[in-house]
Amino acid sequence: MSSGGGTVERLAELIRGSHCTVALTGAGISVPSGIPDFRSPGTGLWENVDPMEVAHIDVFRRDPRRFWSYYRPRFGMLSDKQPNGAHAALAELESRGMLDAVVTQNIDRLHHKAGSRRVIEVHGTIETSSCLDCGKSYTLDRVEALFDAEGVARCDDCGGAVKPDVVLFGELLPAQAIDEAAALAARAELLLCVGSSLEVYPVAGLPSITCSAGGRVAIVTKGPTPYDGQADVRLDGDVVDELQSLLEAL
Ligand code: ZN
Repeated sequence: MSSGGGTVERLAELIRGSHCTVALTGAGISVPSGIPDFRSPGTGLWENVDPMEVAHIDVFRRDPRRFWSYYRPRFGMLSDKQPNGAHAALAELESRGMLDAVVTQNIDRLHHKAGSRRVIEVHGTIETSSCLDCGKSYTLDRVEALFDAEGVARCDDCGGAVKPDVVLFGELLPAQAIDEAAALAARAELLLCVGSSLEVYPVAGLPSITCSAGGRVAIVTKGPTPYDGQADVRLDGDVVDELQSLLEAL
């Protein structure tokens, strides 16, 4: 299924020869699971709203009702989604000892659901939400019961507004996850980028770290990325097809 002729085999060869392989995933790996990439215009939930305006920490603090009216249906939509063959392929690589970790921009938990064990979520996760006043943490299945009549999730201890543990626009990225991702990128002999346009920081900086440290970069995603010229392998097909072909080639 590769567009570059024999490149899946080349990728398999690189993985077999690498002592440390790290995957880097973005929205494109979850599109086959029915989760739209919000950067693609005109896709369902995002159609009539600018996420950069609503999913902003200032909006949350000023008007949590507005934030939640936008985010609550998204929560419900995401919690039902299931991992696809690309998530499964990365979990399989890890279980075969061929993949050290997954660094992801995604907040959808699908790597965990697929069975990946070491997952670094640089934009946070919907798995938990926290009260901004007292810090109490709630798992996803408990959040729905917290909504008040106005549609704001309220802490059952102190009444403070509860926010998903995802990085909103205007918020700092989680330092520990960012440090871990950078350390993994520096150590990687192979950085396998899947479903990311590699344009959004911090992940946009990780391939440079790998290359500077002497590692190789492979890219499996539709559409161009800033690193296409530096990649040892560049696959442009469907992420599920490409990674399933990769498993067969290993
Ligand atoms: Zn609280």
